[in-house]
Amino acid sequence: MTNDSNSTLKTENNELNRKFRDLEKDHLLLKIENESQKYKIKKLKEEIRTLKKIPQILATVVDRLDEEKVAIRGTVGHTLIVGFTENIDGKLLIPGARVALNEHTMSIVEVYPDEKDAEVKAMEIEEKPDTDYEDIGGLESQIIEIKETVELPLKHPEIFEEIGIDPPKGILLKGPPGTGKTLLAKAVANETNARFIKLVASEFVNKFLGEGARYVREVFELAREKTPAIIFIDEIDAIGTRRTESHTGGEREVHRTLMQLLAELDGFDQRGDVGIIAATNRADILDEALLRPGRFDRTIEVPLPNEESRKDILKIHTKRMKLDKELDFDKLSASTEGLSGADLKAVCTEAGMFAIRNSRKKVTQEDFIKAIEKMMELN
Ligand code: ATP
Repeated sequence: MTNDSNSTLKTENNELNRKFRDLEKDHLLLKIENESQKYKIKKLKEEIRTLKKIPQILATVVDRLDEEKVAIRGTVGHTLIVGFTENIDGKLLIPGARVALNEHTMSIVEVYPDEKDAEVKAMEIEEKPDTDYEDIGGLESQIIEIKETVELPLKHPEIFEEIGIDPPKGILLKGPPGTGKTLLAKAVANETNARFIKLVASEFVNKFLGEGARYVREVFELAREKTPAIIFIDEIDAIGTRRTESHTGGEREVHRTLMQLLAELDGFDQRGDVGIIAATNRADILDEALLRPGRFDRTIEVPLPNEESRKDILKIHTKRMKLDKELDFDKLSASTEGLSGADLKAVCTEAGMFAIRNSRKKVTQEDFIKAIEKMMELN
């Protein structure tokens, strides 16, 4: 072997030795790290065990403030800002989640699964509702109006810009219960591929006492996050009644919620891709502030269906039913004066039930007549 090749081998050998030492070092470091992780986990487990032994306080999350802080409300109604232990999955700490707090450290030590009855649905989100205009009986002129005022600005904002006018901001649907107001709002969402965010004003006023204003703000934020979106505020009268002089805590809270809603509406660019629709059965008691230009400045009446519309609605809700050939829709619609769309839907279900009880395969005129009589008694 030459001197040269000898020295190359030596260098290679040194190099390999160095690499080996490096690897050994890395291995050692990993081992230490692993041990230290194990130790941390053990300590945490111990900590959790001790924390759980101490009496716990039940509370509800009202807001996630940042990575480490959560606003919670205790059973007596006070709101506190607390932290949470490392075993808690932060993602579970959403408004409404029920949690246990350690009495001493006042940090969240456990998140409980949702309790079905405790879960009042103040907000409902559908990515794209499957209701379309075909599912609505009657209401032809209302559909045209809603297409112009909500659908068009969402689909073609440029038309309004070109002409230089602002499309209506909020639409108020007013009419008796069960006449299809929600259906209309859902159909627009479907047609515009929009996310449908429904708020039931009366429910969130009751459930989120002291939180109504924040809730309204969050809903608007949610709508802006993923557009297009339709915000549908049902029973808006629950927060939008004319103000009285009495100032109980509850009324002040409702008023604050309304003010937040007005602020959101005022700060809202109607040429964006969020449509706002509200509904009420009590338009007569609404605060005028809500109806000013730039707020809910367009009202669409959604009345009880007339005879022709009742026939349409009955046809829609019997589409999937096995009907007797003799069924006379004209007669049925003539005898259902005063019933709403929701009542007519219930009539169809009830008629089907009569047929089932009598072990028949088809639903007859007689079944419908009995169902209508029953419904009329209820109304
Ligand atoms: P509320 O004021 O009580 O919230 P609403 O006016 O929003 O009532 P919807 O929720 O739209 O009423 O209607 C309830 C159900 O009644 C609907 O799911 C639908 O099945 C039926 N319905 C109501 N109106 C119509 C209609 N015009 N055409 C077809 N179905 C209807």
